[in-house]
Amino acid sequence: MRFEKGKSLKSLTSLGIGGIASFFAEIKKEKELKKIFQEAGGKRYVIGAGSNLVAPDSGFSGFIIKIGIKAFEIKGNAIYSGAGDNLLDFIKKINKSGLEGMEKMAGIPGTVAGAIYGNAGAYGQEIKDSVSRVRIFDGKRFKWIKKEECKFGYRTSLFKKRKNWVIVGAEFFFKKENPAKLCKISRDIIKLREKKYRPGLLCPGSFFKNIILKNLKPSVRKKLTERIDNSKIIYGKVPSGYLLEEVGAKGMSVGGIRVAKHHGNLIYNSGGGKERDVKKLAGILKGLVSKKFGVRLEEEVQYL
Ligand SMILES: Cc1cc2nc3c(=O)[nH]c(=O)nc-3n(C[C@H](O)[C@H](O)[C@H](O)COP(=O)(O)OP(=O)(O)OC[C@H]3O[C@@H](n4cnc5c(N)ncnc54)[C@H](O)[C@@H]3O)c2cc1C
Repeated sequence: MRFEKGKSLKSLTSLGIGGIASFFAEIKKEKELKKIFQEAGGKRYVIGAGSNLVAPDSGFSGFIIKIGIKAFEIKGNAIYSGAGDNLLDFIKKINKSGLEGMEKMAGIPGTVAGAIYGNAGAYGQEIKDSVSRVRIFDGKRFKWIKKEECKFGYRTSLFKKRKNWVIVGAEFFFKKENPAKLCKISRDIIKLREKKYRPGLLCPGSFFKNIILKNLKPSVRKKLTERIDNSKIIYGKVPSGYLLEEVGAKGMSVGGIRVAKHHGNLIYNSGGGKERDVKKLAGILKGLVSKKFGVRLEEEVQYL
């Protein structure tokens, strides 16, 4: 295991912003993780591929630990994956093995652990649908957390509350399907996604979560549904991209951070963007949506 001093957070995140972290290490084995927890005191922050992160301009005075633990074991319909496996590589492998459940998630960047942390999903599939248990390190011991205990919800999980836990792997269970069919679904979805996210775009994916109508207070829900085109409601959710477009967000910018002209919920770094620009723009957008629709947008991205 190699420690690096003075690592640029820009280079570790898909948004390409952030200052310098005092220390950085990529962990490839469980025993290295135990060692780093014993030896590195002070502040720590665990990352995967950095595809959902906004890093501070002031940097991070502590240890950034990238989880690069890889594993792929197949036992019938059950699969074990390491936390650091690339999600798309994992999906391609299970597709080829004729295992159905995550083929529509092809193209979501990041690692398997990052996807579990935020219960990533797309086109009606979420990682929670296929996870059976998650292996974690709690700072002292490695243990398994059953799916029922993971408290998965829309872009959330128990792991968002247990900041000291590190996901090291997960077990999945899938139904059988024709491999060629699964591979085709993934290929088609990747093509579709490239229209929204052009390759190389510096962004963290969707910036805000969609609004779940059933979670709103009845009075807030009534006000919102009276003010929107109800055909925009999909599976009980109001897309935040739609609300943002309605308040004129498309093309808005603060410093180097912009809202895409083709999508209201796509915020990207056009060059030289700063965390302070992201926060300022996010605040303006939240204010506009709150004023017009009476609802508060919540970030899907994580502030490091
Ligand atoms: C172009 C683009 C498109 C996207 N499209 C989608 C989409 O369709 N659907 C969707 O859900 N998301 C999407 N995202 C967001 C992102 O890809 C997902 O949130 C992804 O699952 C994050 O994985 P990561 O490894 O990059 O995590 P990171 O960004 O590195 O980390 C995210 C959070 O997870 C925590 N974390 C990471 N690894 C561990 C670990 N081993 N143990 C404990 N905590 C950990 C981190 O501390 C952090 O809080 C998109 C992002 C981009 C850039």
